[in-house]
Amino acid sequence: MTAEPSPLVETLQELHRKYAPVAIGKVADYIPELSKADPSWFGIAVVAVDGRTFEVGDSRRPFSIQSVSKPFVFGLALEDHGRERVLSKVGVEPSGEAFNSIVLDEATNRPFNPMVNAGAIATTDLVDGAGPAARLGRLLEMYRRYTGREVHVDAATFLSERATGHRNRAIAHLMLNFGMIEHRVDETLELYFQQCAAMVDCRDLAVMAATLANGGVNPITGERALEADYVKDLLSVMLSCGSYDFAGEWTYRIGLPAKSGVGGGLLAVVPGVAGIAVFSPPLDPRGNSVRGVLVCRELSERHRLHILEPGGAGRSLAEAIGRGSAPDATAREGGRP
Ligand code: GLN
Repeated sequence: MTAEPSPLVETLQELHRKYAPVAIGKVADYIPELSKADPSWFGIAVVAVDGRTFEVGDSRRPFSIQSVSKPFVFGLALEDHGRERVLSKVGVEPSGEAFNSIVLDEATNRPFNPMVNAGAIATTDLVDGAGPAARLGRLLEMYRRYTGREVHVDAATFLSERATGHRNRAIAHLMLNFGMIEHRVDETLELYFQQCAAMVDCRDLAVMAATLANGGVNPITGERALEADYVKDLLSVMLSCGSYDFAGEWTYRIGLPAKSGVGGGLLAVVPGVAGIAVFSPPLDPRGNSVRGVLVCRELSERHRLHILEPGGAGRSLAEAIGRGSAPDATAREGGRP
């Protein structure tokens, strides 16, 4: 292994320096616990499909996964029920609406897609298990497979959202009215709030994204997290719906399957190459991390990551990862919390 540091480490350090001073965006406060986040927290991580990890800034600071959980729970629902049943309860159409919109498809009564809250609550409802503890256990076990470590639910975040989640309750009851979810509405809502309050860090998100980039197998542990056949299901909805009413613009400019969350996490998948994650709590009006979008956009442009790029998307990123050494070249700026 060459002693020269990977050029990717230098790129990540440069992007971190460049975007750290950005002062736009607003930390989410509609879930009171989230308002405690420091707007200056900023981490970036890239995990290659061979498991090598590159990280800068606050890449090990824990935060709640929030909506970044949604594609993964969609995957669990697909494994539990298969495509046909899952798609009878949730569509795969971009809604063009905000993540928390209270709208269902008028023709089918289904929520538009599993990435908006309505569709996510419908997929959480499909998570099998004999009672709340067993269902939560299966969710946490899924997170463990993707991250390679035990993941826990933060009680304060869970209670904070449970106490204030009236809009999600309204959405769930509307879906109950149309038979899109079962009668265990409160149980499913609690599970959804717990799913969103699971604690991860930026590196975890990059490993989760890398697992999808690697066909469903965690590149660090070698464990399969998702049936290979469903990987493209997750990536498709992440590409078309992962950034809500910014999804068209995201696909046009960045061109990577991705998912954001109001805790400030954002992950993007470069299929066959790597997972990218950014953590930075200030959000744009659509609920996407401001620095997260900026970093992904610049990484995509510099390395021609758009999946429709002629000549092989991500090749230059693969080259940047391949040259130089890692993980001993892992960049570490900023400290652990
Ligand atoms: N738990 C949050 C909610 O339901 C998740 C939203 C998000 O991250 N976009 O409002």
